[in-house]
Parts: sequence; structure tokens; C-alpha cells
Amino acid sequence: MLGIKEAVERLNSGGVVAIPTETVYGLAAKVTNLQAIQEVFTLKRRPSDNPLIVHISSLEQLSEISKPLTELELSIINKFWPGPLTLILRRKKKVLDAVTAGLETVAVRMPNHSICLDLLQRTGPLVAPSANLSGTPSPTKKEHVQNDFGPSFPILDGGACTIGLESTVITCRSDYLSTTIKNESVYTKTPSHSDIIIYRPGAISEQLLSEFGSVHYYSASQAEQDYPRSKPILPSPGLKYRHYAPKAKVQWLSSFDLLRAVTETSIVLLLDKNQVVNQAQAVEGSISSQELVQSCNLVECEGSWERFGQLLYDTFRVADIENYTHVFVQDIRQSTARSSLKDAIINRIEKAISGQ
Ligand code: AMP
Ligand code: MG
Repeated sequence: MLGIKEAVERLNSGGVVAIPTETVYGLAAKVTNLQAIQEVFTLKRRPSDNPLIVHISSLEQLSEISKPLTELELSIINKFWPGPLTLILRRKKKVLDAVTAGLETVAVRMPNHSICLDLLQRTGPLVAPSANLSGTPSPTKKEHVQNDFGPSFPILDGGACTIGLESTVITCRSDYLSTTIKNESVYTKTPSHSDIIIYRPGAISEQLLSEFGSVHYYSASQAEQDYPRSKPILPSPGLKYRHYAPKAKVQWLSSFDLLRAVTETSIVLLLDKNQVVNQAQAVEGSISSQELVQSCNLVECEGSWERFGQLLYDTFRVADIENYTHVFVQDIRQSTARSSLKDAIINRIEKAISGQ
């Protein structure tokens, strides 16, 4: 484990350090250091065509990375930064191709985490993709980083991540969808009439963004239709990569499925245990709350969506480490409860279910 001073020293001398943010832990390197950035790709086993998010602590740092902002971008930034929102902006030429995977745009975020902001102030902009091996669930606490990179990996500890889900990724320029990559023109069928396009849902929801203009969610399945898998280029390259999936089989749990879920090899994640148990009691032979607690590994969130988001990846990781065969997750898709986290949580669970 590193102190902040050591973390700054390591990063400034070209090292790679795992750092805390409010979303997930990041694997950080200086945005200007090509070797360190390549080390990040190697460590994560991340394909080099999957660009990195640059983390900054001030608008001054932003101006080193991106060209001037539009009014819309500026007002969105003023409202949501620091926070779990990544914007895809026009890059300055000096940004390394390794960071953007050759795109003319760059993804940038100002994290809402005091230790991370302090670090960024001292190091300058850092790339920081999630500090996990590509394909494993994102790390939401230091132990997760250690699981993937070993117990002596340099980590700046900032406690458990308060959100626990990756940032929302958006662009405010529909013309970015017909961007150019290494002078090769890319055509996209994405509707280009929206003011804001969401590539990845996160804690900053479609509803929160709609205050600033029309919003279109460009989903991975839409991307799959528009771009057959053989094509290497997508408007947001991460859309084509497998994410968030544990080895255990992940399934939605309806109240009626409760009996099936109750086995020693199942881990069950519930937003609201009482609600599930009460509904299940309508089914003949159903189990009581007490029986449920005793017969499987039950993770419950007492109705808190924040807690549900925080515990999702941890549950996936526990399932893998402790060899559970199934992860059952309360089916929240039809829930009438409103939360800005709902779309992001459903998105991550669906990815885990489909293994994509
Ligand atoms: P991660 O670092 O794994 O949270 O993923 C960052 C994701 O942001 C990538 O997988 C891309 O989908 C997206 N992204 C990063 N840079 C760009 C960019 N310049 N244009 C479009 N999408 C980007
Ligand atoms: Mg990641």
C-alpha cells in the first residue's frame, strides 16, 4: 500500500499505480508517458484499440487535453463535475495515440474523490482504466485489485468506492459519430439528431442529462447491429468488449424463482429482501425469510439502490473466489422505485447475464 506522496513519486517517475475514485479503482499512469501507458494495457491485457479515460482535477488541466468546449459541454461539466460522468471531446494533437486508440476524440472525467483529486493536482492528468484484468468485474475496493494483480501491487487506498459502477460515458456532438480514424472515414447509422448521446449508462442518468437537451442511448446491441463484430471500429470501442461477467451463471431472480435460488452453491443479491419474500409467500411451499438467510449466501441492501450498486461487483467477485455456481439477482427491471442508478445497474447485470 502506498501513501499519497509515494504514489505521486511513482507516477511522476513513469510508474503505474492503482488509485481510488468514486466509481471504481483505476490503473493510473501519466497521460504524457507512453511507456507507462503501454504498461497499463499490458498489465490489464486490454486490447490496444480500446481507448482510455483521462482523469483531471481542474479545467486548466482539461485545456491541456481537449480543444475548447461548446456551451452545452460546459454547462454539463459545470453541473456534474467532479462526478461520475465522462465526456468525449475533441482532442488536442499532442494527446498520445495510445490513449485515444487513434481516435480524434478523447474521453475525460473529473472524479469526485478527495484523495484522487489531491493526487491529480500533484501529478497532472492521468489515464485510469479500471484496475482489473480485462473481462473480470471492475474493482470497487483494494482487495479486488490485489486479487487481479497480486498482494504487493502498488495501491493508493481510498476505501470502498461509494458508487461502485463505471462512469456514464457521453458525447455532445453527433458529428463525432462520423469521426475519422487514422484518415479512414467511418460511417455510422446512429441517429445524429440528439444533443447528447450516452454510450455507457452510469450514475448520471438519462433523466438527469435530459435537463440539458435531447438524449439518445446508443446501446451495445444497437452497436452490434450497426457494426458486425468483424469490424474493428465502433463509435465507442468499449461497446464491443466483454465486460463485467463473473464465471458463475448470473440470472434474474423473480419471486417465483426463489426456491430454485436457495442452494448452498448460490449467492443471492437482493435490493429488498422483505419485498421478495413477501411476494414469494403467494407461491405454495415457498420459504420464509429465515430459511432464505440460512440456506444460501444472501447479500441484501435494505432497499438502498446505492448499496445495491456498491455491492454488485463485490458479489460477482465473491461468487468466483468462493466457487459459487449461480448468482441470482433480484429482478428490478419492472420495479416502480425510481433511482438514477437503475439503468446503470440493469445494464451491468444484463451484460453479466449475456456474458458480453
Ligand atoms: P474503461 O476505461 O474500461 O471504463 O472504458 C472506457 C470506455 O470509454 C472505452 O471502452 C470506450 O468505450 C470509451 N471511450 C474512451 N475514449 C473514447 C473515445 N475517444 N471515443 C469514444 N469512446 C471512448
Ligand atoms: Mg474497465
